[in-house]
Amino acid sequence: MRYDYVVVGAGIAGITFAENISSELNEKVLIIEKRNHIGGNCYDEYNENGILIHKYGPHIFHTNNKRVWDYLSQFTEWNIYYHKVLGSIDGKFVPIPFNLNTLHELLPESLANRLENQLIQKFGYGCKIPILKLKQSSDKDLKFLADFIYEKVFLNYTTKQWGMKPEELDPEVTGRVPVYISRDNRYFQDKYQGLPKYGYTKMFEKMLNNKNIHIILNTDYKEIINKIEYDRLIYTGPIDYFFDYKYGKLPYRSLDFKFETYQLDQYQHVEHKYPNDYDFTRITEYKHMTGQKHEFTTIVKEYPKDYKLENDIPYYPIPQKENIVIYSKYKNEAEEQKNVIFIGRLAEYRYYNMDAVVEKVLFFLRGEKYGN
Ligand code: FAD
Repeated sequence: MRYDYVVVGAGIAGITFAENISSELNEKVLIIEKRNHIGGNCYDEYNENGILIHKYGPHIFHTNNKRVWDYLSQFTEWNIYYHKVLGSIDGKFVPIPFNLNTLHELLPESLANRLENQLIQKFGYGCKIPILKLKQSSDKDLKFLADFIYEKVFLNYTTKQWGMKPEELDPEVTGRVPVYISRDNRYFQDKYQGLPKYGYTKMFEKMLNNKNIHIILNTDYKEIINKIEYDRLIYTGPIDYFFDYKYGKLPYRSLDFKFETYQLDQYQHVEHKYPNDYDFTRITEYKHMTGQKHEFTTIVKEYPKDYKLENDIPYYPIPQKENIVIYSKYKNEAEEQKNVIFIGRLAEYRYYNMDAVVEKVLFFLRGEKYGN
């Protein structure tokens, strides 16, 4: 059979692409996926105790983009959910990202009041400031506060998560969890937040439910691509692998997930982060996010590590100058490729939230349809 498109990778990028081109353009699509399931890192499944878990780490959908929200809402209802996180700092559980409530919980009242006033005066209520920017404050009090937050919240957490200090990484990394001058304890402030009511995998199954889409699982695309007739390739796998690592391997951080199930209604109230204790970074409890009612509950602990072994999963591209230089070489070659589109977190060697991936695909397709 001849296909209009071959999509490599059945993650949210590949699935969004396949859904759009098969339904809107009525084109024939073959998806080739290396794993034994669809969904990429957003995949969820019921474990042996009947708890819906996210196999590759907790995924909370959040976006300010109505088009993205409306697009996915065609395939799922939502369990509206506002994520909250407490960090274990100085023997107390306090709100993370660091906000005005955290300030008052950790510092003496008169000092906290003074710092709160200074923060609001200088930046304005509701402002989000990356820690590395706050650390550049010339004001003595704000510099003291920045150093305090850096030491207690960022330094050890970043070192554990990335194997290096905040300054060694692109500022974008610590900027993802900025200091928030607000009393809002929610982890995200996006307009739309939640999880697909019946899970991500069910949502993806609906997206792929089209006679124009064929899926091959358990197959590395390189094993079969030469035997397939197609017009265009959508590539969402690792860009260095596509080019046989000719400029070297791009490094990633990986994670080990340790799942534990208890016969309890609830293990903890919200997600807990451990910047300064233990080898794991956080404990998340799935039932909070999914809204599932069950006599058992499953939690997951995340242990960061380097991406080295064959079975390790490349989770996080490491945004350091030398890696961006390697990536740029691949990107230049990618741009020369006729009829191949590189899209998604592995193909673009870049951390993307789910909504950004969907947005990127929709934008690309719209540009293609209306523009080029
Ligand atoms: P992937 O999901 O990685 O899909 C790529 C697919 O390509 C994979 O299925 C892979 O098996 C397949 N593939 C690779 N190579 C080949 C090959 N050679 N042949 C065939 N198939 C191949 N985002 C949020 O918005 N909210 C969150 O709460 C959130 N939490 C996260 C937590 C963790 C621990 C991590 C790591 C990420 C989180 N993300 C979150 C980000 C989210 O996972 C990504 O945005 C999303 O998975 C990117 O989708 P993708 O399709 O680009 O990549």
